[in-house]
Amino acid sequence: MPVSLHPLIDGGLQKGSSNFSGGTLKCHCKSNPVEVKLDGNVLHNHACGCSKCWRPEGSLFSVIAVIPRDQVSVTANGNKLKVIDASAPIQRNACSECGVHLFGRIEQDHAFKGLDFVHVELSEQKGWQEPQFAAFVSSIIEQGLVAPDDAPKVREQLKGIGLESYDALSPPLMDAIATFAAKKSGKLQEKSKL
Ligand SMILES: [Zn+2]
Ligand SMILES: [Zn+2]
Repeated sequence: MPVSLHPLIDGGLQKGSSNFSGGTLKCHCKSNPVEVKLDGNVLHNHACGCSKCWRPEGSLFSVIAVIPRDQVSVTANGNKLKVIDASAPIQRNACSECGVHLFGRIEQDHAFKGLDFVHVELSEQKGWQEPQFAAFVSSIIEQGLVAPDDAPKVREQLKGIGLESYDALSPPLMDAIATFAAKKSGKLQEKSKL
């Protein structure tokens, strides 16, 4: 019996549009929703099974992407936003009434500093980049969302949609994080030895 992975991917992937110019994210409040405008398409959109990303009720995964922070602006009811955990590397700005995460921002020195994390399902516009892979899949076992024996079925379901399962981020993103760390520690000089 297939479970709901996420409403955006359960019915298959809807390809994004290459000339899409962005849209507006809205939280779930019936009145005075928080609105966040994105001035462009997102990058590295993916399904995420981690315990930190906001996911809609009944979904096993969140769908989360990044976009340069200078393309993100709060356009309505920003007074309702609060940072969930100020000590976390990603400062997730959530609506204090409905709990929806509008954007996650990195202020500390980090490989992804300058990129905000966003959920495109909060927008009515169509054309956002489709999810590219599934990250932190084993985390859904750790959170008690699926039994260990059912995890292979979830991975199969993801594969059927066209999403490769990883238990961290995708290899290119993990390489980017490792490269950042190696440069910071001085272990990676300008030129590779290979
Ligand atoms: Zn809200
Ligand atoms: Zn996540």
